[in-house]
Amino acid sequence: MPGGEGFHAPDGRAVCGRSGRYRPGGGVGVRVPPDRAPRKDGRAGAAARAGADLAGRWGPGHNGAVTPLTCDLWWGDITAITPDRLRDLYGLLDADERRRHARFRMQADKDRYALAHGLARLAVGRAAGIAPESVAFDLRCIPCERKADPPDRGPHGKPRPSGPAEGLEISFSHSGDRVLLAMARGVAVGADVERVRQLHTGLDGLLDHALTEGERADLAALGPRDREAAFFTYWSRKEALLKATGEGVGNLTAVALSVPGAPIEVRSWDSPDAPPPGHVQLRDVPAGEDYRAAVAALTPRPLEVVFRDTDDLLR
Ligand SMILES: [Zn+2]
Repeated sequence: MPGGEGFHAPDGRAVCGRSGRYRPGGGVGVRVPPDRAPRKDGRAGAAARAGADLAGRWGPGHNGAVTPLTCDLWWGDITAITPDRLRDLYGLLDADERRRHARFRMQADKDRYALAHGLARLAVGRAAGIAPESVAFDLRCIPCERKADPPDRGPHGKPRPSGPAEGLEISFSHSGDRVLLAMARGVAVGADVERVRQLHTGLDGLLDHALTEGERADLAALGPRDREAAFFTYWSRKEALLKATGEGVGNLTAVALSVPGAPIEVRSWDSPDAPPPGHVQLRDVPAGEDYRAAVAALTPRPLEVVFRDTDDLLR
């Protein structure tokens, strides 16, 4: 596998508290500062609004919840998968997934899709005690649900295991040669991996798309050598958060984060789907030199990230 040894954690190795504000007993991994939650114009902040709406739905506050949430992670590497194995994984996909697979024009996109969805089926099937090909997913797209006149695109959006696998939550992501799969029980999770691209034309076009004004200023203060990697750290963290809520990654500037290198902090989250302060955990996932990755979980409980052996899943 390319990218060094950083992500080759042996099965079962727990990586927690590597970054972010992990406070044992407090269970608050990421703080939304109360003074920043309300907006300056007097309108209640998104996090505060969500807190009122969702505190009940998400169970007790952090005072009563100290059992860590285990989030299992699997890495997939497209360069380490044989064509036979890929065919086997494709064989696990349902009719809807095969239709999507067929729509990709590039073979590399097809392969990443088959790997990501195949791994998800293997992991969920094993955890639920059912055959991987029989795992059913409900797809839900919150951005489309919000539209007055949603486009008729058929089922799409964040997949959620249903039937016998209900209660398991997954998220997956692919970039370059890599696939990252996250799974947890009873708590929504979001995972994202980004290949650190050499952006020859500079970051300017992407900066406005992905970062708030404050984040752009923080990034500009970093040395030129650190800037690109830091940008993709921002990007992966934001996507992990937005994928956890399922609100979609179309609006990366809805979330404002502390600058990479400083403790992870969600400074603001302006969305009706934003979790209440203290109800989100966000971690970087070691991914080697060439990638940045992050995982988020919508819970006040401390997050324990455990790397699982992908070969074991494929066996
Ligand atoms: Zn949609």
